[in-house]
Amino acid sequence: MDMGIAGRWALVGGASKGLGYGCAAALAQEGVNVVMVSRGREALEASAIKIRALRADSMPANSQNSLKNSPEILTVAADITTASGREAIFSLRQDFDIVVTNAGGPPAGDFRAWDRDTWLAALDANMLTPIELIKATVDGMAARGFGRIVNITSSAVKAPIDILGLSNGARSGLTGFVAGIARSSLAAKGVTINNLLPGIFDTDRLASNFATQAAKAGKPVEDIKAARIAALPGKRLGNAEEFGKTCAFLCSQHAGYINGQNILIDGGSYPGTF
Ligand code: NAP
Repeated sequence: MDMGIAGRWALVGGASKGLGYGCAAALAQEGVNVVMVSRGREALEASAIKIRALRADSMPANSQNSLKNSPEILTVAADITTASGREAIFSLRQDFDIVVTNAGGPPAGDFRAWDRDTWLAALDANMLTPIELIKATVDGMAARGFGRIVNITSSAVKAPIDILGLSNGARSGLTGFVAGIARSSLAAKGVTINNLLPGIFDTDRLASNFATQAAKAGKPVEDIKAARIAALPGKRLGNAEEFGKTCAFLCSQHAGYINGQNILIDGGSYPGTF
């Protein structure tokens, strides 16, 4: 299926690894020009090279010069949760058609140990940063008659986990905000705003979570991982590629009537009917 977004411009946060990388790669494969952001320059540049090569691999022999197959892949090594980081991004360009908001998640822990600064850091990263990115881009999208915002949040918004209180709280704030503005006058101007809620995905972040749990339980990482996988309906972890393809569909021309939704992508782990 042609997603109908070749030649558009996307901003993807947290794009050097994991779910953000999956989204950047899938959009690039649809011919979207992508500005990839993450803090570590080396990993970011390596990922951009990988995406350019992916795009070349997926290029049909007879369409070497078609727009769909020649998107630009640019990088900004910056902390997207800071005002200066966002300035660096928007000094590169401002008229994004697609914005995938994403950065690292807050740490797990016991809420008794979290002070005001800890809360403010989580709110900054997982609520206020996506709101700032939305604020900076949606009016331009509306003026041009097309826009897609996809916020990578978490299945913990729908099924909270006690030790992830910082994530549950900050992301729920974002979710409430999005529910309101997605239904505002932006909707009539071709702008959709949705949240994509990952369950358990095989990324660096998950590997480090498993390592922490293993150290705490005094068990091998492989045992912790195997037990987690055994509890999943599909008996496997999600992968960044399938996450990215779902994100690309939500950003597509065809997804224009999907708006203000929280889309769970968890292999069926959430036990409810709705
Ligand atoms: P990951 O593999 O650790 O990748 C995170 C990416 O974000 C990296 O490219 C990282 O690069 C970048 N990043 C982190 N902080 C940043 C910042 N302040 N500014 C710019 N870039 C930043 O993580 P992931 O598993 O893909 O997770 C992505 C998001 O989904 C997180 O918010 C996570 O909490 C959430 N999530 C993940 C899962 C899962 O199973 N994987 C489940 C639920 C929710 P640098 O470190 O170089 O900046």
